[in-house]
Amino acid sequence: MSFSSQGFSSDIVRALTECGYEKLTPIQQQAIPHIRRGEDILAHAQTGTGKTAAFSLPILQQLLDNPKPRSKANVRALILAPARELADQIANNIESYSKYTDVSVAAVYGGAKMSSQERKLQAGVDVLVATPGRLIEHLELGNVSLANLEVLVFDEADRMLDMGFIGAIRSIMNGLSAHPQTLLFSATSSAQMNALAQDYLRKPKRIIVNAENSTASTVAHVVYPIEEERKRELLSELIGKKNWKQVLVFVNYKETANEVVKELKLDGIKAVLCHGDKAQSARRRALDEFKTGKARVLVATDVAARGLDIQGLPHVVNYDMPFLAEDYVHRIGRTGRAGQQGHAVSFVSRKEELTLVQVEKLIQQRIRRVVLDGYEPESRDALLVKMHSKPAYKNRQGRTNNANESNAESQSSAEGRVRLMRALKRRSKK
Ligand code: AMP
Repeated sequence: MSFSSQGFSSDIVRALTECGYEKLTPIQQQAIPHIRRGEDILAHAQTGTGKTAAFSLPILQQLLDNPKPRSKANVRALILAPARELADQIANNIESYSKYTDVSVAAVYGGAKMSSQERKLQAGVDVLVATPGRLIEHLELGNVSLANLEVLVFDEADRMLDMGFIGAIRSIMNGLSAHPQTLLFSATSSAQMNALAQDYLRKPKRIIVNAENSTASTVAHVVYPIEEERKRELLSELIGKKNWKQVLVFVNYKETANEVVKELKLDGIKAVLCHGDKAQSARRRALDEFKTGKARVLVATDVAARGLDIQGLPHVVNYDMPFLAEDYVHRIGRTGRAGQQGHAVSFVSRKEELTLVQVEKLIQQRIRRVVLDGYEPESRDALLVKMHSKPAYKNRQGRTNNANESNAESQSSAEGRVRLMRALKRRSKK
């Protein structure tokens, strides 16, 4: 299905063609007609499905169909997102889609100067992308008004709830005088999410794409059993020998990220970092360098990489297995997109074997093991036999391997624990 058949203006279609979009993705096919009819929607879709265009293209078309003069501090469409990187990315996408129109777009989020954001808001903006906390600051200062809001989007609503934004969201919603068309996008559902949907959506159309625990069939999964202390060497060797050009490496700790980058640099491989200690500007620079090919490797923690638009990659490496098996699916979702072949590589030390088993169960697939000459882990078979015979192992319910380690990146380990608790709760309810 083409974008021109959806009644989008030629200015939008031209911009989409430049973005390389030819056909609608499944979420776009399902969501766009409802949004164009002015209906509320509740969509279960992850990053990478094309959800940003699914909600922003109908918004842009509505703004073009009903042109209104911009007025002081006024906002016509508001998109709430959990993190600054995501907010930035959404705004960038919308700017690309609207580049041949005069629609104005701005993003406001914490960690950036209020004053420059205030200036942007002063004149009024057609589409505002915001994190909830910073939006409230601007609302309280009178820098922005939602009195004439026509469309409201919750993007990655589950992450916003996970991050404790429910109070901020409710206070934003309670301040609205009329009911804007409301679109809620979330990768997962929960009781809190259902309550949010019930309170703020009117007869929403439910849309579901991509089962949560599935990985694309175009991804080849490989595991390298390896001693923990030899992972760095193995990474350098694989990237160098196999001549991988663009590799996203996931680690669990920021200390590990620093060490890995150092090691790769020693081997002459240009690598950049993305973790919670890095300033926003540094993270963005790293991402740009990675996307444009100036850096061959991006080493990231889950928290920092969450929501970043780094899809369609040829190689994703789990240098550490994730704390939760579900995160394997999210990480690997960055590769094997849109029918391209993807490559998901996991380094698995002894202590990570348990997580690997959970991952295989979750994705319902046994992952091919490759032992590289010279990197054979010692006495691995004996260890595995012993481990599998333990009753405690057989009855294991949790999915973490090392979530409580003392050197854990505080944000990821705290979040890991919260998510583990939620996963366990969900399981015990089943
Ligand atoms: P999202 O789920 O919105 O983060 O989008 C994931 C990726 O898919 C982004 O890189 C988009 O630029 C890209 N994308 C979105 N819609 C399409 C489309 N119809 N055709 C090709 N790529 C798309």
